[in-house]
Amino acid sequence: MSISRSILLWASENKWMRKNVPSFGFVKSAIKKFMPGEKLEDALDAAQKFKTVNTPTIFTKLGENITDLSEGLVVRDHYLKLIDQVAERNLDIEISLKLTQLGFDLSVDETYERFKTITKKVNENLGNVIWIDMEGSAYTQTTIEFYKKIKNECENVGLCIQAYLYSTEKDIDNLLSVNPNIRLVKGAYKEARDIAFPNKKDVDNSYLRVSKMLMQTAKGKNVRVAFGTHDEDLINTIINESKYLGVPKDKIEFQMLYGIKTNFQNELVKLGYKLKVLISYGDFWYPWYMRRLAERPSNVWFVLKNIF
Ligand SMILES: Cc1cc2nc3c(=O)[nH]c(=O)nc-3n(C[C@H](O)[C@H](O)[C@H](O)COP(=O)(O)OP(=O)(O)OC[C@H]3O[C@@H](n4cnc5c(N)ncnc54)[C@H](O)[C@@H]3O)c2cc1C
Repeated sequence: MSISRSILLWASENKWMRKNVPSFGFVKSAIKKFMPGEKLEDALDAAQKFKTVNTPTIFTKLGENITDLSEGLVVRDHYLKLIDQVAERNLDIEISLKLTQLGFDLSVDETYERFKTITKKVNENLGNVIWIDMEGSAYTQTTIEFYKKIKNECENVGLCIQAYLYSTEKDIDNLLSVNPNIRLVKGAYKEARDIAFPNKKDVDNSYLRVSKMLMQTAKGKNVRVAFGTHDEDLINTIINESKYLGVPKDKIEFQMLYGIKTNFQNELVKLGYKLKVLISYGDFWYPWYMRRLAERPSNVWFVLKNIF
C-alpha cells in the first residue's frame, strides 16, 4: 500500500479529524465531485436525471459505527420513508447500507430486526434488492453469517465482498449455499498485510479470479453478480471473459460511484451492459470521503485547489 493511501486511510479513522474536518469550507465544496448534495432531495433529483438516460441508481445515506442504538432507529425510519418516496416518484433505486449504521456494534439481534423491516418493505413496495456494504475485516465473518441468515428469510438481499482479502474465495464458497447476490469490490479499508493483499497488482489478480468464479456460478445458478469497480482494464477483461465463458450480457452488471469515470459509465450503457450508479448523501461524509481520496491520492490536489 502506498504511503499516501496509508495516511489517508489513517485520517479516515482519526477521531479528531472525523469531528473537525467536515466544518472546513474548502473540503465541503470539494466533496461535490462525489455527491450531488447532502440532502436526500439532492440525491432524488440526481436519480431522476439518471432515469432519463436509463441508468438506475443505488442510494446510501452516509453513516457508520453508531454509538447509541436509538440512532439506528432513526436510520431505519429514514430508509422506510425513502422507500415510500421512491415508489411515489416511480424511480428505479436500490438501497445499500452498512450494518454498523443500524447498530451492529451494539446489538446484532436489534440490527437484524431493523434490517429485516427495511428489507420486507423494499420487497413489498419496490420489488428489488437491498445491499449490505462490507466494512473493515473485523466485520467480515459476522456480516457473512448475518447475510446467510437474512438471505434464508428474505430473497431480496445482496452482499458486498472485497477481493483484497485473502479469505475471499473461501467466503464465496461459504455463501454459495444461499444463492447469493454479490457485489464484488476491491476493498476500501486499511487492512494488515496478514489479512489483505498489500499490493494493487495482487488485488487486481484476485478480483479477476473471483469474477471468473462468480460468472461461472451465475451461468448455472440463480445468483446476481455485480462488479463494483471503475477499473477500465479490469472491466474490459471481465467483458471478454464473459464472452469466452458464454455468460449473457444480462447476467452481469457494473456498479460505479457517482462522479467517477462518467464517460466510461456512458460507454458501458451504450454497449448494452447493465450499470447502476451509487449515490451517497447525508452529512456524515468524512470517513467515506477520505476513503474516496485514498483510492486516488491525486484527488487531494482537487481539495487543495478549492483552498485557493
Ligand atoms: C458500487 C460500489 C460499492 C462499493 N461498496 C464498497 C463496500 O461495501 N465496501 C468496500 O470496502 N468498498 C466498497 N467500494 C469501494 C471499492 O472497494 C474500491 O475502493 C473503489 O471502487 C476503488 O477501486 P476500483 O475498483 O475502482 O479500482 P482502482 O484500481 O482503485 O481504480 C481504478 C481507476 O478508477 C479511478 N478511480 C477509482 N476510485 C476513484 C476515486 N475515488 N476518485 C477518482 N477516480 C477513481 C481511477 O482512475 C483508477 O485508476 C464500493 C465501490 C463501488 C463502485
